[in-house]
Amino acid sequence: MNIRCSCGHAFNASVDVSVPEVVVHCPSCGQELRVRNHKAAAAAMSPSEVVAEKVKRCELTSGLLWLIIGAVQVFLVYTAAAGVWNVINAIIRLRSVGNIRVGNPEVVPWYENRRTSLIVFAVVNIVLGGVVGVALVAFDWWVRDYVIKNKTAFAGDSAASAAK
Ligand SMILES: [Zn+2]
Repeated sequence: MNIRCSCGHAFNASVDVSVPEVVVHCPSCGQELRVRNHKAAAAAMSPSEVVAEKVKRCELTSGLLWLIIGAVQVFLVYTAAAGVWNVINAIIRLRSVGNIRVGNPEVVPWYENRRTSLIVFAVVNIVLGGVVGVALVAFDWWVRDYVIKNKTAFAGDSAASAAK
C-alpha cells in the first residue's frame, strides 16, 4: 500500500488489509499515520448493518431529490402546491433518517405502512403536476420492498441469528 505522509514523504508499507484501521509510522518524520481500509471496514459490518446502511443511503438520496424537486415545483407556479407538500415531507424524512438502524423495531412497520402514503404521494404529484415526483415514488416503493424483504436485519443480529 502506498502511503503519503503530510510531510511530503511517500513510502510503501505492508499493512494488514483485513483490519479496518492500521497505524503506520512515517520513516521520514516518524509521524503516526492512521490508514483506513474501507473494504475491511465494510466487511467488519454485520449483514444487518449493511442493509441498514443501504436503506439509510437510499433515504438520504431520495429525501434530497424530493427536496430539490419540491423547490423547483415551488418556483413553477403551476406546481407550487405539490412543491410545498414535497418540501415539507422531504424535510420530515431527512430528519428521521437517523432512526434507520439495526435493532429499531419501528423501522419495518413504518415501511409496511408506507404503502398508503406512497400512493398519496403519487396521486398528489400526478394531479398537481410533477412527473419526476412519480418516478421518485417508484424509487421509494423499491426501497420499501427492500426493507420488507430484509426485515430480519432490523430485528438486530441477535434476534436474526436466534431465528435461524
Ligand atoms: Zn512524514
